[in-house]
Amino acid sequence: MRAKNCPEIIRTTRIADLCYLPSMRMTDATMYARVLAGDAAYNGRFFTGVLTTGIYCLPACKARKPRKENVRFFPSCEAARASGLRACKKCHPDDFARGADPVLESIETLVAEVRAKPAAFVDARAVVRRSGFGQTRVFELFRQHYHTTPADLLVRARLDAAKHRLLTTRAGLAEIAGDVGFESLSVFHEQFRQRNGLTPTAYRELATEKTFTVTLPEGYPLGYLRRALSRDIHSVNERLSGDDYAGAVQLSSGPAVLSLKLSPSIVRAEISAGSTVEAHALVIGLLGLDQDAAAFARLAKKLGVARLVADRTELRISQTPSVFDGVLWSIIGQQINFPFACLLKRRLVERTGNLLPNGLYAPPTPAAVASLVPADLLPLQFSRQKADYVIQTARLVSTGKLDLEALRTRSATRAERTLLAVRGLGPWSVNYLMMRSLGFADCVPYGDTSVTSNLQALFKLDERPDIDATRRLMSVFSPYRSLATTHLWQLNQPIPA
Ligand SMILES: [Zn+2]
Repeated sequence: MRAKNCPEIIRTTRIADLCYLPSMRMTDATMYARVLAGDAAYNGRFFTGVLTTGIYCLPACKARKPRKENVRFFPSCEAARASGLRACKKCHPDDFARGADPVLESIETLVAEVRAKPAAFVDARAVVRRSGFGQTRVFELFRQHYHTTPADLLVRARLDAAKHRLLTTRAGLAEIAGDVGFESLSVFHEQFRQRNGLTPTAYRELATEKTFTVTLPEGYPLGYLRRALSRDIHSVNERLSGDDYAGAVQLSSGPAVLSLKLSPSIVRAEISAGSTVEAHALVIGLLGLDQDAAAFARLAKKLGVARLVADRTELRISQTPSVFDGVLWSIIGQQINFPFACLLKRRLVERTGNLLPNGLYAPPTPAAVASLVPADLLPLQFSRQKADYVIQTARLVSTGKLDLEALRTRSATRAERTLLAVRGLGPWSVNYLMMRSLGFADCVPYGDTSVTSNLQALFKLDERPDIDATRRLMSVFSPYRSLATTHLWQLNQPIPA
């Protein structure tokens, strides 16, 4: 897709494909360059044998870089061993190839503990102590695998536990705050309101109400939200007219209409059927309220690129209504322009979605798409390959082999590996999905032409950065690279009204 057509939705370029060819089609020079760059994205795609030491490694191994003339590349551990090489004791290539990752597993276990019993951890230091790693290492591991800090993950765990209690018990607020580990009722209140747009009491009332009101942070750039909500002006499943939005959504109980009334400080919401608690979660995602826009704006300022966030410091990444919806977008949008992608999406929704009384179609369920055969989609102008990818992915989801919604709670590393294993989802699509549908904070869709050309403009570079330069430039925005990407996409766009 051409960047100018699509400020914030699907952009797929051939660069992405060139950068991520499977090992069979990569040249030795390309692979050696990945080794020198220590590029973890290539771990498992090939293995590096070093003839002088007799060992084989992952491309990202932290050991001293071998000289080019001493290196041989192998497609698998088996092939390296067959040449008489031994596995490196630093990077454990065999563990990686087997899918075992002991350090990641220990962090995942720790996070599961924090989420199950947040009150057992007085503060982030307690999380660090429990990990058994040093503080610097734990921070690095949380950033790498969860895109956040131990403190932030702990607060989220406390809030999730509090939400559960608000809905399932009649306990008072002070009791709940204490039970989940907040040091005071006021801290609980403040954190809850900030990330959920309403008070704990109002949240509890969602169980019996069909309407609710979400408070926006000061300076929330409504224009960008309006643009996101009306990106396809011919959409058959959502409609924005002035400040009135109606979107057909799929809740766990079935299709429903979500109505929003936008205003600069609050959003009023109403759901026609199903769970209001689910509808609230959807609205929070749509508004991106639990993203730390302020922290990213401070970082941009500190880095001397306040221009990146000028006039939109509170910009968030509007989340797709479901992960499956994001998957459909990212497959349909590949290699075509934005208007054509919208057209294909509309046709798919009309073919498989549910027509509601107000004339909008609820998005298709995975089961509905899974029941198609490619011949159903070819007349809608899907390419054969795109039809295959869409249907095969829907089948993985509808048969339970791919649990997309569960990926939200897994580590980013695990979510990325799971999605990369799905045919039809390349590194660009996977990172796009992780930031637009799974809410991970530190993703970059590498190979995105709009990101690279706007990085060039932002840092006033003579040349458009290549993939390594892009990695280096973007690394300064960690752990907020998803927000950095979103702001880069907006950099040279007209400011919305
Ligand atoms: Zn190694």
